[in-house]
Amino acid sequence: MASMCARILERCRERENVTFIVTPPTSRRRRPFAGKRTQSTSSPNRVQSAPDFRSRSGQAGGPPPVAAPKLRDVPFDAAVVAASPFTALGLTVPLVRAVLDEGYTKPSPVQAEVVPLVLAGRDVLAMAQTGTGKTAAFVLPILQRLAAEGPSSRRVRALILTPTRELAAQIAERVSVYGKHLSLRHALVYGGVSQRGQEIALRAGPDILVATPGRLLDLMQQRIVTLDAVTHFVLDEADRMLDMGFVHDVRRIGAALQSKRQTLLFSATIAGGIESLAQSMLVQAARVAITPAVTTAETVEQSVVFVSRADKPALLERVLREGSSGRTLVFTRTKHGANRLSERLDRAGFRSAAIHGNKTQGARERALDSFRRGTTLVLVATDVAARGIDVDDISLVVNFDLPNVAESYVHRVGRTGRAGASGRAISFCDRDEQSLLRDVERLIRRRLPPWQGEKPIAVAPAPQPA
Ligand code: AMP
Repeated sequence: MASMCARILERCRERENVTFIVTPPTSRRRRPFAGKRTQSTSSPNRVQSAPDFRSRSGQAGGPPPVAAPKLRDVPFDAAVVAASPFTALGLTVPLVRAVLDEGYTKPSPVQAEVVPLVLAGRDVLAMAQTGTGKTAAFVLPILQRLAAEGPSSRRVRALILTPTRELAAQIAERVSVYGKHLSLRHALVYGGVSQRGQEIALRAGPDILVATPGRLLDLMQQRIVTLDAVTHFVLDEADRMLDMGFVHDVRRIGAALQSKRQTLLFSATIAGGIESLAQSMLVQAARVAITPAVTTAETVEQSVVFVSRADKPALLERVLREGSSGRTLVFTRTKHGANRLSERLDRAGFRSAAIHGNKTQGARERALDSFRRGTTLVLVATDVAARGIDVDDISLVVNFDLPNVAESYVHRVGRTGRAGASGRAISFCDRDEQSLLRDVERLIRRRLPPWQGEKPIAVAPAPQPA
């Protein structure tokens, strides 16, 4: 252990020119666990101008306080850093310190798989959803590689593309948190806001750029940003990017990058579109698949109704009337299906809204806002659009269409019964969907009981036991 510590200290002295204060093991400080993502400090309406991570003490304007220690000079327990499983992944002291500060005790599965691959320079195609810790899986090793490549060249060397501005803001905040002991700069650009502040941030010469595709292309066309020095390229939530119609933008951005680069693609599913995007953008990529947890909350009462496709809308109206539910989230498989259903519900007198990838950011935010406030009680969503929905008290989830991917069932149902509250989930199953139902039941390892409506309904025949 002692020699390992010495090696790490030596390595860091060479690389980061850090002042170390090594405390004996008896004085180890335990940091509270803080596994949850902290609230972004950057306003999503403003651009986070490339901050110098070393100079937080002077951020509020005016002269910095007398002799305020630089973050990198703050004492830390080298033995704890050396013994951390994050060090065993190959991460250097500044990064391990940052994750320990966050209260992370061990790498999540996606981090354990992806970090060493990225450090080794491999391209990676990773199937991992939000919540698996995938952001740290790409941000940590990229920060390390950039820091090792030398001081800032004031050119963008790492580009992280993500579909929505919320995700972009969250990633930028993580870059700031994980990079707080390094001297790298980052900037954040996304559409729907004035470009002025983003231009200023880009002129400051960030090493890392977190961007949504549309605004980035605009800025490229105006020659406000050039990407010819990019050596690390991340496509985050690629499936959602395709669903939102960004595929051509993504390809155009990819084409503007040098071919000698490392590319990482993260997606919740690796379906047809993702496979071909990956083939055109990645080179001999290592594949990583992280299966999401497959448990549904005990507090959610789940059931199934066998009903023909044509009768589903009428059944939904009945469920909504009988249930006198609070907030209801209805899942459809297609965007058009979501629109059609929402229009029909409106005509039937239910206040509803549809949310899916074809809606503008503004329209989606408005729909979510009125759902949160209770002005709209029924939200009809596709799986991809629903991922960004952060509303706690949803009392009913209706699977109007069963999901093609069984794991999505768990995510859908997880929208209700949160924080110990009770919730209900009803799945509408047409004859064509019986194999999808079997996939779901196999995944959650239980059979869904039939829905007990108040009045009997004409139902399609139940399938034979799987
Ligand atoms: P992500 O999937 O990147 O959106 O991360 C989901 C949440 O997990 C975030 O709140 C992270 O701060 C947190 N997280 C990431 N890695 C770890 C870890 N190794 N241990 C505990 N929490 C983590």
